[in-house]
This record gives sequence, structure tokens and C-alpha cells, in this order.
Amino acid sequence: MKDGDQYDVIVIGGGAAGMMAAGRAAENGKRVLLLEKNKNLGEKLKITGAGHCNITNAEENIHLLLAKYGSAAKFLFSAFAQFGVADTFEFFQKRGLPLVVKENKRAFPKTESALDVFKVLEKYLKQGQVKILANSKVDKFVIKNSRIEKIIVGEKEFVAKNYILATGGKSHPETGSTGDGFVWLKNLGHKIIKPTPTVVPLAVKDNWVKQLAGVTLPNIKINFFVDSKKSLSLKGNVLLTHFGLSGPLILNAAGRVADFLQAGEVTATIDTFPDFDLGGLDKHITGIFDQNKNKTLKNAIKLITPKGTGNVILSLIKIDPEIKINSLTKDQRKIIVNLLKALPVEITGLMGYNRAVISDGGVPLTEIEIKTMRSKLCNNLYIIGDLLHISRPSGGYSLQLCWTTGFIAGNSV
Ligand SMILES: Cc1cc2nc3c(=O)[nH]c(=O)nc-3n(C[C@H](O)[C@H](O)[C@H](O)COP(=O)(O)OP(=O)(O)OC[C@H]3O[C@@H](n4cnc5c(N)ncnc54)[C@H](O)[C@@H]3O)c2cc1C
Repeated sequence: MKDGDQYDVIVIGGGAAGMMAAGRAAENGKRVLLLEKNKNLGEKLKITGAGHCNITNAEENIHLLLAKYGSAAKFLFSAFAQFGVADTFEFFQKRGLPLVVKENKRAFPKTESALDVFKVLEKYLKQGQVKILANSKVDKFVIKNSRIEKIIVGEKEFVAKNYILATGGKSHPETGSTGDGFVWLKNLGHKIIKPTPTVVPLAVKDNWVKQLAGVTLPNIKINFFVDSKKSLSLKGNVLLTHFGLSGPLILNAAGRVADFLQAGEVTATIDTFPDFDLGGLDKHITGIFDQNKNKTLKNAIKLITPKGTGNVILSLIKIDPEIKINSLTKDQRKIIVNLLKALPVEITGLMGYNRAVISDGGVPLTEIEIKTMRSKLCNNLYIIGDLLHISRPSGGYSLQLCWTTGFIAGNSV
């Protein structure tokens, strides 16, 4: 069965990038078909920013912004000139979704709802009369003379003048991003830089971390050691989970920790009072203890530990919890101070694709015409979003790439 020649453009993959591309092409008057293998579009978009969607990063200085994309920065100037951060603000605000800028210039919808971001794109597709076929897994491309002749979905064939590939990377495969596009692109002759999970939590051995799953340690300093040599110190918040450490600070450090893991045994210490040295913290705690002399350690511990961590820290101290504060020896107090300055963590590795925010790797930008996002190897194929090899931290930089590359491809076809 053949679905005629009625499409100008077929977009494969209905994530953030594919929806933007399909909407833009349709806005320009193209007849667009969007094929998505899931029942619904935008499954990953809906879980971004823990459901709040860090939609872009509001860094106004283009040099500072592009520096976040590492070696890809030099390729992206012209792309961001076509559709940059200001355009993202305008795009969503014009469509009734105001954005707000929070710490580290992270921008979110004012409603803090990723679903609202999705709804704007859904409406954009509807207004452009994009035909959407869900539950349609593209199986393969048929190539002739460096052009895609048709694509195959089960028993069906689809034909268009141009094709936009937006099947995503490999992180959180349950959302549909299973790396299908990488296989086709490799067959086409594209070099695929092996995807690895990059912005990803860290797995740890320590039970105390797992016992505190869900707790955020605020304003701490974490020191990483490679074979006992201090190699990196970072300040910020760390989220403890049932598998290890997470939160933006950790996610953005994962790339460096991956290198450390290649070099040796990686351990870390968490300093819960980075603004005190050991002596200063001892004084601070002594002051608190002096006012609570008749309490048991079990009751006093929460006065000197981050919220929600008292009992677990008590179990690490290995001092009788029933001891009265006025009976604590100087050495016992020292044990407490030392532990609060250096909670020990053994890093066993990075979590996998199922927990990664972004997988690195994909098509190198040298194989793409950045002004149009067209493949240099296949004349009627455009490649966008997480399929591209562009390293970046967490902070809204990934979705901005989807808006930018999706818009350009949609405009170019
Ligand atoms: C938990 C999490 C939180 C995140 N939070 C943020 C954030 O707050 N800010 C930010 O900037 N970035 C964030 N990211 C990263 C961001 O979500 C991605 O960079 C972005 O969604 C990628 O969009 P995409 O359209 O390229 O690919 P995807 O969203 O992966 O979409 C690809 C689509 O293609 C479909 N598909 C795949 N194979 C086929 C096939 N064979 N046939 C048909 N369809 C197919 C998939 O089902 C999927 O719908 C987060 C990622 C995760 C996992």
C-alpha cells in the first residue's frame, strides 16, 4: 500500500525537535506528515525539568551561550542567528505561554508545566494542518542516487520530496528514543559518534546515600578524588537518590567523573558546612550543644545536620544515640565534626541511558549543512535535535537546540 505523493515533507519522530520542524514547515505552506512510533507525541518533552520544562537558557551573550556547546560552538553561530534564545521566548510568549528566568538563567514556562509547552506545539501542528500518524514506527528508508526514495512503516510506504529525521538520542528509551535514527544514518554513510550517556546521575556504593533517597543536601561542597588525589571540588545542591547522586550540579559533573573513572578509583566527600573550617564548625556545634546540654544525641543531632538526614548521620557516627550531650567527650564531638565536613561516598560509575538526561554522540556537525540542517550525504534528508553530536550541560541548552535545529529544518525544506 502506498500513501501517494501528497506530502512535501515527512517528519520522522514527534519529539520537541520534530514538532517544531513539522509546525514550521506547515506554517510555510508545506503539506507535512509527522510519523511517531508512540501512541502520543512529545513523551520526553513532557518529563523535562522534572515536569516543569527548562525550556531554554536566557544567556544574552551569544559567545557565553555558545561556549556551553563546546566544540560545536563554531558551527552554531549561523544557526542561532536564524533562531536563537530570543526567538524561543517570542515563539512561546506569542502563543500565550509566558516564560520566566530563574537561577543560572534557566528559563521555564511561568506555569512551570512541561505539558503546557507540549500544548503550544500541539496547537502549532494543528494550525498548520500537519497530518499526524501515531503508532507508526518507521522501519527503514529506501535510498536511490543519494536521495530517500520512500520510507517503510510496516506494510505501508510513504513518499515525500523531503524528509526530516528527528528520532532523538538514546536517553530514557521508554519515551521512544531508542536510537533508531543512528542505525539508518550509519547505513547512509554518516559517521555516528558512539552515543554515551553524558548528563547523567552517579551510581554509588554507600547505603547511607540510598537510605536518604529524595533528600536534597543544600549548599554543600563535594570533593572528588581519583586514587585519593583531590581532582574536583564543586559547590551547590546534591539530590540523594536510591541509586546515588543527582541534581544539576552532579549531572553537569558527570562528563568529568566519567574521565576520572577511566583513570582510577573515584571517591568523594560531601562537606555539609563548606563555609566553616574544622575549627569553626567545632565552635559552631559546641555553641549549639551548650544550649541543649540535657538533650540526648538522638534529639540534638537534627539541630546540626541537613534537614532529613539526622538519623542516618547518627548511624554513621556510631556513638550511642542515647548519650546526653553534656556527657559527649571532645573526641566524640570531633568524630561528628569530621563526618559533617566529609561524608564519604564511593562512586561506582555513571547511571545508564534509563537515567540520562542526554546521550552524547550522534552525527558530527561537519556532515551537516548548518544553514539548512540538510545532510551532506543525502540530498533530501534533514537531521535535527538529539541526533546531532553536540555536547552540552543541563540548563535548557538541549531544548534550545531542538527549537533551533527544528525551526531551521522546517524553514529549509
Ligand atoms: C528526564 C529528562 C529531563 C530533561 N530535562 C530537560 C530540560 O529541562 N531542559 C532541556 O533543555 N533538556 C532537557 N532534557 C533533554 C531534552 O528532553 C532532549 O534534548 C529533547 O527532548 C530531545 O528532543 P528530540 O526531538 O531530538 O528527541 P526525542 O524527544 O527523543 O524525540 C524523538 C521521537 O522520535 C520517536 N521515534 C524514535 N524512533 C522512531 C521510529 N523508528 N519511528 C517513528 N518515531 C520514532 C520517539 O518515539 C520520540 O517521540 C531532558 C531529558 C530527560 C531524559
